[in-house]
This record gives sequence, C-alpha cells and structure tokens, in this order.
Amino acid sequence: MGAGVAGLRGAVELARYGTVLVVTKEALAESNTHYAQGGIAVALEGREDVALHLKDTVAAGDGLVCRRAAEVLVAEGPQRVEELIAWGAHFDRESGRLLRTREAAHSVQRILHADGDATGAEISRSLAAMARASQAIRFCEWTTVTGLLEQEGCVAGVRLLDRDQRAWSVDARAVLIAAGGAGQVFSDTTNPAVATGDGIALAAEAGAELADMEFYQFHPTALFLPGAPRFLLSEALRGEGAYLRNDRGERFMERHHPALELAPRDVVARAVAREGFGKAAGDERPVYLDMRHVRGIDLHKRFPGISAALARYGLDLHRDLIPVRPAAHYLMGGIRTDLDGRTSVSGLFAAGEAACTGVHGANRLASNSLLEGLVFGARAAKAMAESVAAPANREASTEDSTDTSRQEEELIDVFIWELQKTMWKHAGLLRDETSLREGSAELAKCETGIERIAQPENTSRRLREARSLCRVASAILQSAIARTESRGAHFRSDYPRRDDEHFLKHSVLGREPGVTFEQW
Ligand SMILES: Cc1cc2nc3c(=O)[nH]c(=O)nc-3n(C[C@H](O)[C@H](O)[C@H](O)COP(=O)(O)OP(=O)(O)OC[C@H]3O[C@@H](n4cnc5c(N)ncnc54)[C@H](O)[C@@H]3O)c2cc1C
Repeated sequence: MGAGVAGLRGAVELARYGTVLVVTKEALAESNTHYAQGGIAVALEGREDVALHLKDTVAAGDGLVCRRAAEVLVAEGPQRVEELIAWGAHFDRESGRLLRTREAAHSVQRILHADGDATGAEISRSLAAMARASQAIRFCEWTTVTGLLEQEGCVAGVRLLDRDQRAWSVDARAVLIAAGGAGQVFSDTTNPAVATGDGIALAAEAGAELADMEFYQFHPTALFLPGAPRFLLSEALRGEGAYLRNDRGERFMERHHPALELAPRDVVARAVAREGFGKAAGDERPVYLDMRHVRGIDLHKRFPGISAALARYGLDLHRDLIPVRPAAHYLMGGIRTDLDGRTSVSGLFAAGEAACTGVHGANRLASNSLLEGLVFGARAAKAMAESVAAPANREASTEDSTDTSRQEEELIDVFIWELQKTMWKHAGLLRDETSLREGSAELAKCETGIERIAQPENTSRRLREARSLCRVASAILQSAIARTESRGAHFRSDYPRRDDEHFLKHSVLGREPGVTFEQW
C-alpha cells in the first residue's frame, strides 16, 4: 500500500520472492517522497562518518531515539544509497564527486541532493523505473485501499476502490503499509492531499499498536502568502546561509539557540511561531527568510524548484524577503514495528513514514526520512518473504459498493476542514491540557457529523480519508494529553520541561485501553 520511497523499495525487494501488487491512491508520482526537496542524509565516508551520523540522529531525537533502529539506519544507509545510484538515481555532482549540503542539527555536510532541490522526485523516478522493469510487479494507480481483509486473526489482503467507484478485494500473503504520513490532519501542512494517514488508521482498525503519535514535526519555513499553498522552503536554504528575520528586521534566532538558524527544527519552528503569531488572535506579524546577503552561489541554479515556485508570486531569493510560517510536515510516530517492519498483527507490515520504529525519537533529524524509507522498506520486504509460506487462494474478486452522493461528499469536506482547523488550533506547535481537551471535544463533533452522513455500507475515497483523519487526530490528541512534559516536537506550555524520570519512554496506543508508556 503506497508508492513512495518505502513502498517502491519494498516492492523491488519483494519481486525476488513472488508477485507484488503496488496500490497507490493517485498517480505513481503523487507522494510525500515526490515533493522531498533538501536531500537524503547518508554517511558515505566510512566508520567514523557513520558513527557521527548516529550521534546526530540520537541527539536530534531528544532522548527518545531507539538506538538499535538508528544504528540500522545509519549502517545500512550507505549500501542502500549506493545501490540506488547503481540503479540509475542521479545525485548532483561536481567534477564527478557527489555534492553534499548541510541542514539543521547535522554536524557535517552529508546530505546528497538531486536537480538542486528535487531529490524526492529523482528517487521516486529511479525506483519506479526499477520497479516497472520487473515482471513480478503490477501497479494499481488511482486506487484507494479502503480496508484490510482478515482471516483467523491474520491480515490476508486488501479491499480496493478505484476512481470509477469499482470495489474489489485482493488476497495477499502479506500486506506492507507504506502509505506515508498524515499532514492533512492539520489545516497548514507541506504534505500533498494523499497524506491522510489511511495506512495508520487501517492498521489501528485491524488491532495494530500505534506509537509516539504526539510527535508531529512542524517545519519552520513554509511559504506564507494569502491564498497560496504552504509550499515548503527547504532547510537547505538555511544550510546555504539564509537568515530568519522578524518584522523589525532582527535576526531573532540569536535569542533562542546558539546554533541560530541551524538549531533543531522544533526549536526554530517554535521561535518562528512565537515571533509571528503574537499573543492574541489576529495579532500576527510577518516572519521572513532572508538570503539577500548570500554571495558566491547562484540561488536559482542551486534551488531551481523553489525559485520557480517563488517566481509565481513575484518573489526572488536574491532580492526579496520571503514570508514564512511553520506547517505540519512529518509524523515521527505511526504503526509500531520492530526493525523488520513487523506490526503487532500477523501478516501486516509497515515501513516509511507510516511506521514507527522509534528511529526518529521525538524529533527527526532533517533528511533522515528518505533514508528510512529505503532501509526499512527493504528490510520489511525481506521479513515478509521469510514469514509467509502459503500462497493466497484467490487473487481478486469484485464487491458491491454504495457510493456517497455528491452532496454527502461536500458535507464530509466541511467536517474535514473543521477537523483540520481544530487540530491546528488545539494540537499544533504550542499545546496545553485545556486546549487539547477542547480539541478532543471538537473532534468528537466532527466524527459524529461524518458518521451521521455516511451509511455503514457506503464506500468512497473521501469517506475513507475522513475516517482516517478522525482516527489519526484522536490518536495525536490522546497521546499529547498523556505526555505531560515537553520533548522534541511535542511542546506543552503547561509542562515546559523535559521529564526523564517519567517520560523517557514511547507512548503506545492499542495494547491496553488508553495510552501506555514503554521503553524499547
Ligand atoms: C514538501 C516535503 C519535503 C520533504 N523533504 C524531505 C527531504 O528533503 N528529505 C527527507 O529525508 N525527507 C523529506 N520529506 C519527508 C519525506 O518526503 C517523507 O517522509 C517520505 O518520503 C515518506 O515516504 P513514504 O514512502 O513513507 O510515504 P509517501 O512518499 O508519502 O508515499 C505514500 C504513498 O501511499 C499512498 N497511499 C496513501 N493512502 C493510500 C490508500 N488509502 N490507498 C492507496 N495508496 C495510498 C500514496 O498515494 C503514496 O503513494 C519531505 C516531505 C515533504 C512533504
């Protein structure tokens, strides 16, 4: 389920062992992976370099990184990236040598990039080409996984719905959820429309455990112009020297962190929010990204995609202050898995942003997620092949489906918008108990509203997405209420300190009623 970096890498691996069906909600290229700009972090210079990558990853995660997962990520990363290059991925080079950039909380320049700021598109292209060349892999584009089939407590296939509302089911020896994150749960996000957390919700419905759902990373610098989408302005811009300035022209990061603009992402995001949002509603002040002083780099060449996007609004990196705001960007939590993608439900595996190995802890190190998709997508596929013996009996069968009407879909959209605004307001960058509880009450109203419109037998992509968003939002709120401390991306203004005595643990949903905390 999913054709981002984790799904495609998983499919390429699985093709060695059997027939693979890759299902994706829109065209193959529509994924978070496709929009990734800055690059992919990897330590290609031997053991010391790998050890330093581990150190930075652990430090960024604010005490909660699962060390074994991080060791796997940094140690297997170089092999996965070299393999990708051998398969045809073109990363930027100068005189034949790979170019590397730096982003926040990296102690050295280790981030490879492609076409300047289109790294994800190149990774997606090269993996898709590799997958398409395989006879064993079939693609089902513009098709939504709406449910998981279960047989004697095992996941044994998926329910599908295509864009002509045809429903059918496919039996499978195992299912890999690589359906990405859930940025659409917030009104302000860098994520595309497909990122509605369907994989996480389906896994939870099947009884799988979720972990660390309170940790949502907000990117500090999304474009902030009325009517414009929250287009991401990559951290690599700050890596190349961009400053952040408030409406008085001050370089305000001096007041917040010694690493200034390259401080950990959560620190920068909260600083931007504090400078920009003001104390009262409506008391909003602009915050800017400033590259006007940067010399010696042709910014249009180095960042062609970003430059072209800004040009649409008459803005130029060399000439203008660029208005920015934080936006929901990356979910550190997700479906709890071991290091081989196994979930707590037999036959169900997960990898990539939908999964939670604990590798990012409370805060992902920038550019570690594309690497995560490659490393853990391949590992999950190997484990799937090893763990399932019997071939599926049936291949595919059609099912009856009852569509929701256009009017019903419009009403569902209204509730989704309410949910997104609620989550931004009550479970965004700065949280506290009262606000989180208000958010839960608002969410319950949205959920009731959606279930009143939809009949149990209704199936539609939008309905699936609405239900997924409700489930993911509820998991975020419950986990954020339970973690009464501040750590990484989770900031509670009523508990502003990190509390290692009680919370050096991962939150888990689904093992017992409510949220439990476990060390792993
Ligand atoms: C704007 C932006 C910039 C980023 N920049 C970087 C960067 O520079 N470096 C970095 O490391 N990370 C970056 N990230 C994060 C990174 O891109 C993602 O974390 C990573 O690509 C996730 O990969 P994935 O394979 O897990 O999921 P995705 O790439 O999100 O793929 C999910 C797939 O699941 C499919 N899907 C979802 N629901 C369903 C359903 N119900 N049925 C069928 N299919 C479904 C989608 O259609 C899609 O194919 C960025 C993210 C964004 C949004």
